[in-house]
Amino acid sequence: MSLIVQKFGGTSVGDLDRIQNVANRISKTLKAGNNVVAVVSAMSGETNKLVSYADNFSKTPAKREVDLLLSSGERVTASLLAIALNEMGHDAISMSGRAAGIVTDKHHTKARIESIDTTNMKNVLDAGKVIVVAGFQGVNEDGDVTTLGRGGSDLSAVAVAGALQADLCEIYTDVSGIYTTDPRIEPNAKKMDKISYDEMLELASLGAKVLQNRSVELAKKLNVNLVTRSSFSDEEGTLITKEENIMEQPLVSGIALDRNQARVSLCGVKDRPGIASDIFGALASANVNIDMIIQTSGHEGATSVDFTVPSGELTDAKKVVDSFIANKEIGKAEYDESISKVSIVGVGMKSHTGVAATAFSTMSTENINILMISTSEIKVSMVIEEKYSELAVRSLHSAYKLDK
Ligand code: ADP
Ligand code: ASP
Ligand code: MG
Repeated sequence: MSLIVQKFGGTSVGDLDRIQNVANRISKTLKAGNNVVAVVSAMSGETNKLVSYADNFSKTPAKREVDLLLSSGERVTASLLAIALNEMGHDAISMSGRAAGIVTDKHHTKARIESIDTTNMKNVLDAGKVIVVAGFQGVNEDGDVTTLGRGGSDLSAVAVAGALQADLCEIYTDVSGIYTTDPRIEPNAKKMDKISYDEMLELASLGAKVLQNRSVELAKKLNVNLVTRSSFSDEEGTLITKEENIMEQPLVSGIALDRNQARVSLCGVKDRPGIASDIFGALASANVNIDMIIQTSGHEGATSVDFTVPSGELTDAKKVVDSFIANKEIGKAEYDESISKVSIVGVGMKSHTGVAATAFSTMSTENINILMISTSEIKVSMVIEEKYSELAVRSLHSAYKLDK
């Protein structure tokens, strides 16, 4: 008998009929002789609706309160699914993050899972029941409810699969697997049979929201067998696995787009030893994730520093920057939210030259100005004006022949 963790995303539980559809799928898995732990997201649009409710009262609502509010979305789905399963004759119980034993740190709205006490879940499974866990949430050592960052139900699923040593973790969503790029942007995108953890981690970190990046990181660390597939068909999905399990590595595996980036440009930054450490140290303490950084060479005791942050963290970044402006360590700051980041990912890049050059010439042919560039062993990222996002993705997709 296998233990399978099945995670169902927002669209898959988007209305009551779809929740019934999910119950039918779980029922089939149970009848095939498996144990199932389901992990569910909130119904699609629900989390955004709750965020807007909080925004109605405050532009900077206390994150502790936001977490309790947002966690309710997944609880609604979990309990409805358990009720549907019970009605079909299955012994199912729903659990909040707390009941499932998911303990996190105290970083409200993007908490990290510290441990999972599986006692409760194991007792319930041993009693032959099905568990439906409300995704995206845990509880910190003070007993406060926390959430795991947007898209965090993927992380809940992988963490539960790891803690219970499940045989398989299936992520059910609204596309039938991992494609060479977002199939909503490029209809000619191709589904991959397999992709390595590292490439998937890059794609997810660079904006392919089909999987939350931290869930991939954890799947790699815990060696969880992860499959992404559609909840609307029986088509085979994409296996996310170790690099050595993939025979042939293409040069470029996929293109990712991240529209939720903002550029911060600092002018008149005091050119002294330790300034970068002070600014980026303060940003790190404020839990702001920095991506690309460009510093120009100093001139008359001052320098310029540009960097990107996720749009959702711009308010926190501004607070930090303002404190440096107040201390006269930074002259002035400009913010630009109408940018996006397009990236090319492939482990094959490690051993081939010319990949970046193709990206730059493609942008040049399309007359798209590149605002910032960063590269690593297996990726090339470019910041461009947001209005060119789709054009950039499609032309890169064809330049690397990913549609072939
Ligand atoms: P869920 O609600 O199930 O968690 P998400 O909306 O978070 O689903 O993720 C699924 C979406 O990810 C797809 O609808 C698709 O538009 C998008 N996506 C982005 N990049 C890719 C990719 N490379 N392959 C597949 N889907 C992708
Ligand atoms: N409901 C949460 C969100 O929309 C978590 C998730 O769906 O994974 O971000
Ligand atoms: Mg998601």
